[in-house]
Amino acid sequence: MNGRGALSRKSALSVLAERLSAALARPAAQQPCWPDAERANAVIELLHEADPIVTPAETARLRARLASVARGEAFLLQGGDCAETFAGNTEPHLRANLGVLERMGDVLAEAAGLPVVKIARMAGQFAKPRSKTEDARGLPVYRGDIVNSPECTVAARTPDPHRMLLAYAHAAGAMDVVRKLCAEGIEPRVAQVVLAGARRASPVGAWPFPDRGRPARPSEIYVSHELLLLDYERAVLRPDSAGPEPRLASGLAHFLWIGERTRQLDGAHIAFAELLANPIGLKLGPGCTPEEVVEYVRRLDPHRTPGRLTLVSRMGHDRVRELLPPIVEKVAASGHEVIWQCDPMHGNTRTSGNGYKTRHFGHVVAELAGFFAVHRQLGTHPGGIHVEVTGDDVTECLGGAAGIAETDLPDRYLTACDPRLNGDQSVELAYAIAKLLR
Ligand code: PEP
Ligand code: MN
Repeated sequence: MNGRGALSRKSALSVLAERLSAALARPAAQQPCWPDAERANAVIELLHEADPIVTPAETARLRARLASVARGEAFLLQGGDCAETFAGNTEPHLRANLGVLERMGDVLAEAAGLPVVKIARMAGQFAKPRSKTEDARGLPVYRGDIVNSPECTVAARTPDPHRMLLAYAHAAGAMDVVRKLCAEGIEPRVAQVVLAGARRASPVGAWPFPDRGRPARPSEIYVSHELLLLDYERAVLRPDSAGPEPRLASGLAHFLWIGERTRQLDGAHIAFAELLANPIGLKLGPGCTPEEVVEYVRRLDPHRTPGRLTLVSRMGHDRVRELLPPIVEKVAASGHEVIWQCDPMHGNTRTSGNGYKTRHFGHVVAELAGFFAVHRQLGTHPGGIHVEVTGDDVTECLGGAAGIAETDLPDRYLTACDPRLNGDQSVELAYAIAKLLR
């Protein structure tokens, strides 16, 4: 390395450090108030010493895969728990969730006639944004295992920075399991709905029963989580000079997304994401205007890199056909090659008669139908889906071939945050999408 190269690298690094400080100095929504700032800083210092959980080579491979999605040559399947928990971070749970992605990926690949890029919400999906700061009892809300504990005591709900170290350790352990399972091969989840469907005598339509399995085979699955808790996200960054400008590679996940509640254009999350070398997702809710979206695209994809930015619409089944077209048109006219992904879960959440936060399978399918119809009409590529799913046999979402009813919700309502499709509902959803693609 010659002297000039070393010098310019150093100045690039100091520019990045300055931009990072400026980003983090902006207002940041949804951050916990640590009761003891000194203790929080000590944890953050410790995290700065931590090794990356994902490798630059893996993230680079995902960038290439996502470029092919943006060009219409592949489909993106992203899914997993709404909130991972420390207690739930077990090999059987990870295997079950990966088995669902594997099966959904098989069905979608066959239907779309395209390779499917798979990204799990896994190995770090521990932080949650919340609509209120206090719960009905007046306790601080649960913000995910990385911040506090869901138990209903003041002590449990008080944010504890030490949990960031536990989260890092859990994420690293989960990533080891993901790598091992991908190398060994993951058995795809097979839907069991035949019996349940018969029991409920509900018509199951055109999808094939019984569902077919196949032997496990090695798989390529990337990991992602919401870029939410900035004290955690800022800790494991490395300079990255592979792209069009010097950036920082997060070693905490291959893919990070910004949620609906933290996408303020003048806020810290957008400014932080601008600096990242990782591919970035951005959730777009019904309040989002086409003008705003073009501004996001300009900020987060300044070099017009295909697949750099994934726009995740979550408009609700009843609004997607009205709200999505002007956004897609305006971005398409800007010339940026983004990935259009649909999250059919978060715009369709409601409270059941018996008090459970839930979603109806039919609404999830209806939002996806709207999403595919909009893209078909505009001639753009409906690049992928982002879903909350688990291979565990939970009863959190209504409907599907097994006909889960409100009275079934208490049976196995196990989520730490939002309701997930269970294994059978997830496979059934993949078949429903296959029908929409035909
Ligand atoms: C989520 O993905 O769990 C989430 C909170 O989504 P959104 O930001 O779209 O509400
Ligand atoms: Mn969620």
